[in-house]
Amino acid sequence: MITHETLKSLPAGVQAPPYDINGIKPGIVHFGVGNFFRAHEAFYVEQILKDDPNWGIIGVGLTGSDRSKKKAEEFKKQDCLFSLTETAPSGKSTVRVMGALRDYLLAPADPEAVLKHLADPGIRIVSMTITEGGYNINETTGEFDLENKAVQQDLKTPETPSTIFGYVVEGLRRRRDAGGKAFTIMSCDNLRHNGNVARKAFLGYAKARDPELAKWIEENATFPNGMVDRITPTVSADIAKKLNEASGLHDDLPLVAEDFHQWVLEDSFADGRPALEKAGVQFVGDVTDYEHVKIRMLNAGHIMLCFPAVLAGFENVDHALADPDLRRILENFLNKDVIPTLKAPPGMTLEGYRDSVISRFSNPAMADQTLRISGDGSSKIQVFWTETVRKAFEGKRDLSRIAFGMASYLEMLRGKDETGGTYEPFEPTFGDNHKTLAKADDFESALKLPAFDAWRDLETSGLNNKVVELRKIIREKGVKAALPA
Ligand code: NAD
Repeated sequence: MITHETLKSLPAGVQAPPYDINGIKPGIVHFGVGNFFRAHEAFYVEQILKDDPNWGIIGVGLTGSDRSKKKAEEFKKQDCLFSLTETAPSGKSTVRVMGALRDYLLAPADPEAVLKHLADPGIRIVSMTITEGGYNINETTGEFDLENKAVQQDLKTPETPSTIFGYVVEGLRRRRDAGGKAFTIMSCDNLRHNGNVARKAFLGYAKARDPELAKWIEENATFPNGMVDRITPTVSADIAKKLNEASGLHDDLPLVAEDFHQWVLEDSFADGRPALEKAGVQFVGDVTDYEHVKIRMLNAGHIMLCFPAVLAGFENVDHALADPDLRRILENFLNKDVIPTLKAPPGMTLEGYRDSVISRFSNPAMADQTLRISGDGSSKIQVFWTETVRKAFEGKRDLSRIAFGMASYLEMLRGKDETGGTYEPFEPTFGDNHKTLAKADDFESALKLPAFDAWRDLETSGLNNKVVELRKIIREKGVKAALPA
């Protein structure tokens, strides 16, 4: 266990918080205290607390599940301290104990404590990592889903909420009634224009609750867009044991992340912000180009590597990348399909970014799983590949690698790899009709799946014929026989 006491005698090589923990005042409330938040936002804030102690973070968990209760107990026992091991692809590691998280509240156990913090003028930012699906946007309408049962309940009893929308808007209501300022609502989820998505969600709820309050929020709160990046894997009990053995700590909440980290953020804050630029955050007027580069190179490359890797029987991303054929498909995809149709934002080169992505994927300390990366492939293809595919059609460019990626994805959905292993593909958006199409033995039915929807309006028979041809080769001769030149 790590506590204030153990901070006085940390093992050699472990960095302690470089400030007086007792002098930190809360300035941020964060919803969704998962591993990514701890390795990213908390890591950046950690570095500025020495100069400005007004930005300590209060973490909030919204679910009352046994897992959440256990996490809350562990945070309390450790005074919310935890260690972060940052590991480079070379294997070189640094370990620090972080103190930026100053309290952790389980909302169902004490909702009023959460609301008091949200109403406190000292809290100037409310941030969140609640996953891509956490914003309750209806996929068909593109609007905030007011039919959601928990949302409907919050609208009936808005002063005793249970959803993040209910809490945040009730907190803002109290601030407005007290004549105070609004806070910044800062999404750190991996979404394109995450601030705009958050704006739609919170204002969608607020308008249904009270249009005047919604107007006040619209005029006073801000929702900066941000591009967030740091590969932060799940920590199994086995990995936790190894991390503690290496650090010499007895941490119940150890964390590992790659040494790379990036946060590009719009400088739009309602009531001030920490000087995060001192910790390396890039403040820009528009994050769009940065988002494009990350999504079309890192995220798109990840699935281009992992779909065939799953079929070939590779469990870990770094092992897949060590295979020369799989490495070649990733490199050719980035070099020939993505880079020529992408614009580099200021201060970045696409070739430099490509090299860093390949080096990051090869990091053995992440032990990242090919099945995890391939999961929800249907949504990922639509978000990560669409622009590259449409640009290939527009420019009459070579579609052979896209066809190979799609064929690998469709064969992967059948749940069998080439070593005889079986697995259950994770496709959370699939209904029964999709599952039937995905498991069909023929090569054409699966062309109707939503993964193809984003370019269905174009003349795609050439691509589709190639996908069918490559699927046959994969099924008969294996995925490597289908690799494009
Ligand atoms: P995690 O499972 O460790 O944490 C997710 C947290 O969100 C948990 O605390 C969970 O209780 C909470 N949560 C989930 N759904 C919620 C909801 N509807 N309302 C409120 N809280 C909810 O996952 P993580 O690795 O921390 O990733 C979280 C998010 O961070 C991802 O979805 C992604 O958008 C972003 N991200 C992660 C990585 C990474 O490498 N892990 C990298 C970039 C961005």
